[in-house]
Amino acid sequence: MSILADARALAAQEPVCDACLGRAFAERSHGLTNAERGRSLRIAAALDDDEPYEQVETADCWVCEGLCDQFDEWAERCAAAVEDVEFETYQVGTRTPPLIEENEVLFREGAGLDEDAGELFKSEFNREVGKRVGRLTDTTVDFGRPDVQFTLDLEAGSVEVDVHSTFVYGRYRKLERDIPQTEWPCNDCQGSGYIGKQPCEKCDGTGYLYQDSVEGLTAPVVRDVMDGTDAKFHGAGREDVDARMLGTGRPFVIEVMEPRRRRVDVERLEGDINAFAGGRVEVEGLRLADYEMVERVKALDASKRYRAEVEFADPVDDDALAAALDELEGATIEQYTPHRVDHRRASLTRKREVYETEGELDDDTHATVEIHGAGGLYIKELVSGDEGRTNPSLAGLLDVDAEVTALDVVGVYGEDEPFEDESFFRDDRPAQTPETGESPSNDGGASNPE
Ligand SMILES: [Zn+2]
Ligand SMILES: [Zn+2]
Repeated sequence: MSILADARALAAQEPVCDACLGRAFAERSHGLTNAERGRSLRIAAALDDDEPYEQVETADCWVCEGLCDQFDEWAERCAAAVEDVEFETYQVGTRTPPLIEENEVLFREGAGLDEDAGELFKSEFNREVGKRVGRLTDTTVDFGRPDVQFTLDLEAGSVEVDVHSTFVYGRYRKLERDIPQTEWPCNDCQGSGYIGKQPCEKCDGTGYLYQDSVEGLTAPVVRDVMDGTDAKFHGAGREDVDARMLGTGRPFVIEVMEPRRRRVDVERLEGDINAFAGGRVEVEGLRLADYEMVERVKALDASKRYRAEVEFADPVDDDALAAALDELEGATIEQYTPHRVDHRRASLTRKREVYETEGELDDDTHATVEIHGAGGLYIKELVSGDEGRTNPSLAGLLDVDAEVTALDVVGVYGEDEPFEDESFFRDDRPAQTPETGESPSNDGGASNPE
């Protein structure tokens, strides 16, 4: 059958609106709305038959029950629902009433067409309302991961709005010990602060084992500035609670849920966080980031640079220390799962490379050393030898018992590429990528790993 014959057969099941008629031919010709297709076909058929042209009121249509007349109205509802929300991208989805879906099939079958000829009612609704939402709110449609997702519930007459999270990337320094990275609920009271009706004694009724955390000192500021409902901290690994994080800091992403603000001034935000954290934690290099940055900070292989205070059981001289550190630089270390983590991990021997070492004696039984090594290298054991379970080790090479008395992380770097990749950022702040050789106690002798 020709397109005009098909159109006549469909239009004969009156009253059918132009959009519903045209939707059965949605795949034909670009740059037209379905209503334009339907109206044109109706006119062409009238001319061909030399019959009077009769316009059909959309409100009377039995297929869509007049819904194709309501695109503007639904778009206005969407815009009103996000009046105080800042966003750049959106997507519209439609829940079609089952009755309309049935009508669509009956309409096509009644004209002898395939039941899925043209396009679905909801595809047109999404597109037509979507175009109007874009114009009303000056934003663009994004079929991947939009800032805002509208769901039109045609039967209930309501618009559901999902405001998707937004993300801020940066690097943090933790300048004091005994601050966990993320909030640590008290295990006596399960974080409630109460045992029965009495305040929990262990945590003083606060619900937290440590009063501060890197998360607690940073995420609430971002949440408030972006006017979100909640915020979550994602770190690129974590240091021990008793280790500081110094130097160039550790990459992190703060995710803000349901933000009303997205385009915030990151330099100002940096200042706000640093003022709030009161010198215990500092952040730098903040950037507005894509959601994929969360996965990147969590999964990218990273090398770490540590600074360790070391105590020796017997005196050590400068030359011996220098020779031992020299020996470790570039060495591949075999580490049998350390005693201290034995019960948590499967026992195995792992091989990790030491990229760079430096250090000097503070007195003949104390030294400060810096070690840059592959991710997963156990530094305390590299120093002590862990009763022969780590080889080679500083203690082994010196033939003196050695122990780490204080440990700080001074840098966390992507092994193969920097964490700071422009394609993951949504702003145009210049990148601040730390050099792996950079070190606060650099004596000038440092060299970059290959
Ligand atoms: Zn209709
Ligand atoms: Zn408690």
